[in-house]
Amino acid sequence: MSKTIIVTGGSRGIGRAAAILCGRRGWNVVVNYVGAQAAARETAREVETAGGAALVVQGDVAVEADVKRLFAQSDARFGGLDGLVNNAGVVAPVGPFTGMDFARWRRMFDINVLGAMMVAQQAGKRMLKSAGGRGGSVVNISSAAARLGSPGAYVDYAASKGAIDTLTVGLGREWAADGVRVNAIRPGIIETEIHASSGEPERVALITPTLPMKRAGTAMEVGEAILWLLDDASSYVTGAILDVSGGR
Ligand code: NAP
Repeated sequence: MSKTIIVTGGSRGIGRAAAILCGRRGWNVVVNYVGAQAAARETAREVETAGGAALVVQGDVAVEADVKRLFAQSDARFGGLDGLVNNAGVVAPVGPFTGMDFARWRRMFDINVLGAMMVAQQAGKRMLKSAGGRGGSVVNISSAAARLGSPGAYVDYAASKGAIDTLTVGLGREWAADGVRVNAIRPGIIETEIHASSGEPERVALITPTLPMKRAGTAMEVGEAILWLLDDASSYVTGAILDVSGGR
């Protein structure tokens, strides 16, 4: 059966990889982005080339009205919902905790935590069987930072991803008997454009020698794990957190 999946932050990186893999299954994919319209359209083109259907929706996950509009547009185009890749997220320049300001923390938590919560809530309202939905799967994108803490780099980011882990455990249990599974993936160091916003363009190259596999991961390697969690193949998995970090 064809599924309908919303991917927040589907324009680039891990979200794009997940969207394309959904397309290969012939699924309907809602590709959300905040600013990179051309990249989002390219993701949609690749979804369609792979055999799926795509809808591109601009929207900031940290803005409640945008989140509601994202889901309303998905409803209008595809009807019911079967899955969510709760992926949109940001980092900020690396540095010591004492050097960070409140505005940075506010933005980080508005997007990475409150945004992910608002998106998960809208998905639950559509997928929970008690709400008239047909059940589904939520895949939250956390980070290995949640258990490493990212000292000296971005402890705030790590803390925001710790919240995602806890959200996953809680919603996994709250929705377990109501047809919706909720799991998280903790990517390690993955080759995407996110590292450019850390203020250290060479960050991946610097860290690579310290990684157990001596290489960074690819967005597609994370995407494959996302697809397994979205799919019925993982039907008895909920409230789980899967490291896709090459042993880091
Ligand atoms: P990326 O290449 O920088 O892509 C980020 C995506 O999020 C883009 O599609 C971006 O949209 C979107 N986005 C950012 N802020 C948004 C907002 N306020 N509203 C809606 N969309 C927004 O990043 P990535 O590496 O693929 O990261 C994806 C997720 O994986 C994030 O949650 C990140 O924390 C997590 N992660 C990444 C790594 C890694 O090493 N790459 C490791 C662990 C966890 P635009 O294109 O429109 O800007």
